[in-house]
Amino acid sequence: MSIDLTQAWNALVAKGTMKNLFEDDSGRAIEAGVRMGALGPESYAIAVDTGVEICGPAELTRFASGMEMLFNPVGKLKPHTRPPKAGRQPDLKTEAAACPFGCQDADNPLSIRNRPSLAEVACPGLRWRAYPNVAPWEARGLLVWLPCQPDLDGGELPHLPQALEQSHLEDFLTVARSAEGMATFFNSLHGGASANHLHFQSVYCDRLLAAESADRAVRGSYTFLCNYPASGLVFPRDVPAQALWNPIEKIQSARYPLNLIGLSSGVYLFVRHPEHEILEEFPGRAFGAINLAGLFITSDAEERKRVTEQAIALAYGRLTIDRESLADLIGA
Ligand SMILES: [Zn+2]
Repeated sequence: MSIDLTQAWNALVAKGTMKNLFEDDSGRAIEAGVRMGALGPESYAIAVDTGVEICGPAELTRFASGMEMLFNPVGKLKPHTRPPKAGRQPDLKTEAAACPFGCQDADNPLSIRNRPSLAEVACPGLRWRAYPNVAPWEARGLLVWLPCQPDLDGGELPHLPQALEQSHLEDFLTVARSAEGMATFFNSLHGGASANHLHFQSVYCDRLLAAESADRAVRGSYTFLCNYPASGLVFPRDVPAQALWNPIEKIQSARYPLNLIGLSSGVYLFVRHPEHEILEEFPGRAFGAINLAGLFITSDAEERKRVTEQAIALAYGRLTIDRESLADLIGA
């Protein structure tokens, strides 16, 4: 099975619906989003009163190691509340009433239920629906996948916790293999997830990311990344769900956060250091699967100038548990 999400995404962009209105720090009214440009979808931001562009285009830089930095200035315009401290963050609220997707509140115009959906896929466990992220850092496509069970009473978008069961993992692999030209990922709680509602994401990806070109070392039945800043495991793209579930079950039982990403070359699993959720050297920033796979993302022009390849490598090393600890944890 293969689904062309890019075409559905482009159609939505062409309709002109992928935009947000908000005020920046100075109270200026801004319209920002994604529009169709000469080369395809592009991020933009304009001042509402004058219609004048207030942002340059997104730019991708590739370091010598293959690590990349995506600079997308649009993300900086909208005021954000930063976590007050580094380290482990408070738990996200579990109740549906606090769900950032507004999953049970179709009367709320901001509820995800009022967005157009891009696709639905019947997976072995659940049925999943893709919604567009309307403030994406990648203009060519960023989607969120949520279980949808319209046949169940009150279950249009069931508010399930953001943790993997074996059947969810089977679903993840189905979605990842179906979504052509996309990287599909799962960020656990305390591992970059911003909602405690079961979800995956897919992002347009037309190239190999740095983790895919890194060296490998086989140990027992596992393949480890080596000479790569983040420690992690690599599985074939057609890995049986059971083989991937074995380590994930151990990692979740030991209460370690994790990041999982399906790329064209395989499936990558990163295990996070529980106390290094937010790093002092990158205050206010949550890192997730796509970052550890090799894409550092910033919307801050100063940060872009300041951050070196070495600083990113150091950060990714601190975010993940070291290889020996990882091997102990999974019994490799
Ligand atoms: Zn929810």
